[in-house]
Amino acid sequence: MAVPKRKPSKARSRRREAINMRLESPALTECPTCGNKVARHQVCPKCGFYKGKQYIDVEEMA
Ligand SMILES: [Zn+2]
Repeated sequence: MAVPKRKPSKARSRRREAINMRLESPALTECPTCGNKVARHQVCPKCGFYKGKQYIDVEEMA
């Protein structure tokens, strides 16, 4: 089997890991109820809605 001659430098490994981190973290979508940016598959912190149902009570300051 072919084996790498050198181990990847720290800079090279970290550069690759950084790309993966950027892809993983920002899974944001717009809340269909209030238009707020919300993490996917999470109850919206602004209006408390998820999948058309209210799960938490949020004090409306309007
Ligand atoms: Zn919302």
